Amino acid sequence: MEKFQGSIQSKLRKQETSISAIMSALAREHNAINLSQGFPDFPISQKLIELVFKYMQKGHNQYAPMTGIPELREQLSLKFEKLYGAAYDMDTEINITSGATQALHTAIASIIRDDDEVIVFEPAYDAYVPVIKLHGGMVKYAQLKLPDYHIDWQEVKKLISSRTRMIIINSPHNPTGSVLKPSDMKELIKITRNSDIIILSDEVYEHLIYDSLKHESVSAYPELAERAFVVGSFGKTFHATGWKTGFVLAPENLMEEFRKIHQFVVFACNTPIQYALAEFMTDSTNYEDLGKFYQRKRDYFLKLIDGSRFKVVPSHGTYFQLLDYSAITDEPERDFAIRMTEEFKLASIPVSVFYHENTNNNVLRFCFAKEESTLEKAAEILCRI
Ligand code: PMP
Repeated sequence: MEKFQGSIQSKLRKQETSISAIMSALAREHNAINLSQGFPDFPISQKLIELVFKYMQKGHNQYAPMTGIPELREQLSLKFEKLYGAAYDMDTEINITSGATQALHTAIASIIRDDDEVIVFEPAYDAYVPVIKLHGGMVKYAQLKLPDYHIDWQEVKKLISSRTRMIIINSPHNPTGSVLKPSDMKELIKITRNSDIIILSDEVYEHLIYDSLKHESVSAYPELAERAFVVGSFGKTFHATGWKTGFVLAPENLMEEFRKIHQFVVFACNTPIQYALAEFMTDSTNYEDLGKFYQRKRDYFLKLIDGSRFKVVPSHGTYFQLLDYSAITDEPERDFAIRMTEEFKLASIPVSVFYHENTNNNVLRFCFAKEESTLEKAAEILCRI
């Protein structure tokens, strides 16, 4: 095909391909164990697969309602009430989306205008900043503080101006595995009280939380919930990242704005999958034990790498584990991650890519949502380096 001969004014000039895509391709090329991208390598529930089939057979193969099927919205409403004491109306305050990614994009698109400021904590999941920029917003970066990647609320206060329109939080946090505490939520309440600031709360790892800690959902705090979009992902909860089905909860007036855009982005999401999820969610044990399940994987991985030269940065949530390699080399994270993939056949993610200035702290992110045999092979390599 001949290239387009006219001029293109790129809307995201400096945007690189996502690091997950780059590292996964490198892992494939070098036949390396892939602990880079966040996805399970074990099968999903057979029951869930059968449910999708059942609903396809029953003829649920045409467009779902724009907001999502009522059965699934009802299950979400019940779940948020039971777990977080939140009262979301299933018709006006809940919407099904094509993955959390689309929910995040649409929420940002529905609020952010030219020169609005958005506070983002770094290291930050890579789906926030490009979308803010695409919609003309300005990003104000707050740095999570080492060694445990906590929020410095004094720093956040200093970043707030009359133009601050949104704060994006993510707990449990990708890539660090840190989690917000009740004291953080109190600070967030203080900072946003009597302001026009909207909170975008990325809670896709709500059930992946360990060490007897409790997930602090924004929905559990009425003063926050009234100004928040809460975003979740069935892909994370039911090990089916490829299904790209998620949801968003918000008060009615925020949801109205969300839907104005949502209907022209995807209109409706996959119908049989929504029916299957709705039925599967009626049994809460399908998600309640997820924390225990993943904590066993985390603990097994940590036991296997005990004695290696990698230093563990405690992870209390998500399926990611940060490892500090300062005792091995002072190579920049990106170089070391690439060398490890090529030479040692183990792929990870350099945490520096989650900083706008590529800040290096000699830490790599490893995904432990893997079969024991995969973790054993990865650990054997880590112990050799
Ligand atoms: N937010 C965070 C923090 C994530 O880690 C991910 C998945 N990597 C997403 C959102 C996107 O979720 P989904 O696959 O449902 O679009």
